[in-house]
Parts: sequence; structure tokens; C-alpha cells
Amino acid sequence: KLSARLQQIADQIPAGSRLADIGSDHALLPVSTVQSGIVISAIAGEVNPGPFQAAQKQVAEAGLSEVISVRKGNGLEVIEPGEVDVITIAGMGGSLIVRILTEGSEKLEGVSRLVLQPNIGEDVVRRWLVREGWYLVEEHILEEDGKIYEILTAERVQNASERNEQLYAERELQGCGIGLSKEMLISMGPYLVEKTNAAFFKKWQGEIAKLERIRKSLSESELEASKQKEKAIASEIEQIKEVLKCLQ
Ligand code: SAM
Repeated sequence: KLSARLQQIADQIPAGSRLADIGSDHALLPVSTVQSGIVISAIAGEVNPGPFQAAQKQVAEAGLSEVISVRKGNGLEVIEPGEVDVITIAGMGGSLIVRILTEGSEKLEGVSRLVLQPNIGEDVVRRWLVREGWYLVEEHILEEDGKIYEILTAERVQNASERNEQLYAERELQGCGIGLSKEMLISMGPYLVEKTNAAFFKKWQGEIAKLERIRKSLSESELEASKQKEKAIASEIEQIKEVLKCLQ
């Protein structure tokens, strides 16, 4: 049985897909989605020898070596153009996910859906999607074992730039007259702000606590630059608090 996080990722994969799971570790996602019949063939990519061997073992033990190809390599170099419909990349930082997608951009042709679960730096991933003409179709946030995870699902669509402009257009929050800027939507998630849950609030309370700590350490400095930075952080904290209060 998959963890709640991996199950939520699996739920984003359309039936009949050919999947590449990059940074697959134990290949849990390919094995489970092939076993459940959602995925018809899969590639489990791993760059590190330990996880690569773990993936090979898992696939062999499940008797799925015919349908799941375990490949060793960096990022998207393990796939051929046109070989898969869906790529999942989960459990890494947003900057690493973006680096993998950027370095392997020629492999993305023919890929219709990306399911990305950055551990941090979700904003970096959203910005990349906008820049590269992908359109976010769904977002999920959940808590498991005290950790909070965001899952971003993106598709290639026609008029991606127009649709992205609409998705991230500054909007007013209903009922309290607060404007959400494009930057706030990029960092909080354009769908997540519309359908908040306990995990969303917990994540942002945690972000406020982090910012408060940074602010406190800056306040101990006499440097003018630190004072400026402290002011900027104080206003960011206020902005987040206002938005949370309105969404609650
Ligand atoms: N995707 C699984 C999950 O979400 O449960 C495993 C996540 S694990 C924390 C991250 C994995 O990504 C590690 O096994 C690591 O070896 C692999 N990895 C890191 N950088 C990679 C890269 N450039 N290409 C392929 N795999 C990579």
C-alpha cells in the first residue's frame, strides 16, 4: 500500500499512461500503479546506485521486469523522446526538479502531464511551469507523519500563456477586500488558496514562524542593509497573516 503522499501522486496519473518516475528510489510508485492497472508501462529512473539497486530488486520481486524498466542515469537522460506520456518527480527540492526538467527539456516533447512533488521551493516549480508554457491543472496539499507536501499537476495546453495569465491574475479575496498578487499566488498556489485545508494553514503558520526567526536575527544587527531586510520581512509576514485571516 502506498503512503498517502504517493497515493495522491498516483491519483494524478491518467489510466493507460506510460510513466517515467524520475528519482524513483524503491520504484514504489511504478510498481503500485502498474499493479493497479493505471499505468501500462513504466520507467523507474535513478541516479544513485543504492536506490537504483533497490528499484531493480523491488521490480524483480513484483515480477514486473517486463513492464517496468529500471534505468540508471541523471534525470530525464534515462528516457527517449516520445517514450512516455506522464513524468512524476517527487521528494526532491523544487530547484532540483526544475534543473532536471530544464536539462532534459528535449525529452518533454510528447509528454502530456507532469506530476511534481517538491519538498521545498514550490514557487520555483510554478514559475518554471509558467515560463515553459505548462498549465497547472490541479494542486493538492496534504500532511503525512507531521510533514506537509504539495503536489502540482501540469499539462500542455493550447494558449498556455493566456491561461496562465488568467490563473495568476491578481485577485481579490471574497469578503475581505484583500488583493492577492501574482507573487502571492505563485508562492501559495492558485488552487490551494481557493480550497484551503488544515495542511495549508499549518504550512503557512510554519512559514510565518520561519520568517519571524529570520526577522529576529536581523533585528540584532546594526547594519542598514539588515534593517531594510527586516522591514521587508516584517511586511511579508503581515501580508501572509492578513491573507490567512481572510481565508480562514
Ligand atoms: N520519488 C520517491 C518518493 O517520492 O518517495 C523517492 C524520493 S527520494 C527522497 C529522492 C530520490 O531522487 C533519491 O533516491 C535520489 O537518488 C534521486 N535523485 C536525486 N537526484 C536525481 C537525479 N538528478 N536523477 C535521478 N534521480 C535523482
